[in-house]
Amino acid sequence: MKNKVRIHWFASVKRATSRVVAELKALNLYQPVDVYVTPIGIGGLGYCTLGKKPEIHIPRFSGARLAELLPGRVYTSLMDILRHEHGHAFDFAGMSRNLRRRYWQLFGRTGKKAVFDPDVHVTEYAATDSQEDFAECFMLFVKWGGRWRNRGLHREEYLNGTWDKMRFLEEVARGRYQ
Ligand SMILES: [Zn+2]
Repeated sequence: MKNKVRIHWFASVKRATSRVVAELKALNLYQPVDVYVTPIGIGGLGYCTLGKKPEIHIPRFSGARLAELLPGRVYTSLMDILRHEHGHAFDFAGMSRNLRRRYWQLFGRTGKKAVFDPDVHVTEYAATDSQEDFAECFMLFVKWGGRWRNRGLHREEYLNGTWDKMRFLEEVARGRYQ
C-alpha cells in the first residue's frame, strides 16, 4: 500500500469508530464523543474539540495524509487516529480532579515542545506537548488492549517516564482515580 493517498469515507470512519469504541468500553476508558467526517483538513489527520461534549473530526483528506507519502514517513491507520483523538476526548472531558492532578505530575502542564526522549515519550509525536503525549500513550494503551508491559517500552527507572505513564492509564482503567 505504499504511496497511496488514503481518503476516509464515511462508512470506513463509522466502522473503525465502532471498533475503537468497543475497545475503549472493554478497557473502561470510553468518554462519550461525537465523530464527524469533514471534507478536508489543512493540518492534522484528525482533531478533537470540546463543546458541550467532545467532538472528533476526521478529514476525508488532509495535508498530513499527503505528507505521509514523503519518503521515510510512517502511515498512521484510521484506528490509531481514532484511538489518539479519543485520548484527547478523555483528557478534555473525562478527568476527575484527582486524575488531573496525577496527569499534571506525569505529563506536565505546558504546551511546550520537548526534545524526543524514548525514556519519556512513547512516540516522537508525543514530544509535541503534554496533551499529545497523553493522547499517544492512550492510543498505544488501547491498541495493545491494556497489555503494554511486554511491548519494549524503555523500562528505565525514569521518573515520569513511559513506564509511569502507561501504569497511570492502567490505574485509570481500573478506576483507581475516581
Ligand atoms: Zn493529538
